[in-house]
Amino acid sequence: MSNPRPCEVCDRPSGEHVNVFVNELDVETRERYGGRAGFLLMCPGCDRTHEAWLDARAWNARCPVGTPVRYWPGVREGEGRQGVTRSLAWVVSGHASVLVTGQSGSVALSHVEPVGAPA
Ligand SMILES: [Zn+2]
Repeated sequence: MSNPRPCEVCDRPSGEHVNVFVNELDVETRERYGGRAGFLLMCPGCDRTHEAWLDARAWNARCPVGTPVRYWPGVREGEGRQGVTRSLAWVVSGHASVLVTGQSGSVALSHVEPVGAPA
């Protein structure tokens, strides 16, 4: 899906632009846009969290809030724990993450697995 608005960092038109929450930007970019709050429209080249957002978007497309999951709060080994997602996925510190029941902080999607996800 192309976006008619150019990247707010490099002015490159269209492409896979995403709105990036300023708090999630890397330090260097955040300093350039220090006065900004909210979101910046960025192209993948300028957005260093782009891959993580793609992961989050792919997850959200198949796992709505309430999806039963198995998750591993620490090291991913053994059975893990069972829970249900409490949020859609978003990017936390550069990693696609989600909230699950039984865990107050977010869990990286690499440590969450849908159980019997709807086909
Ligand atoms: Zn750009």
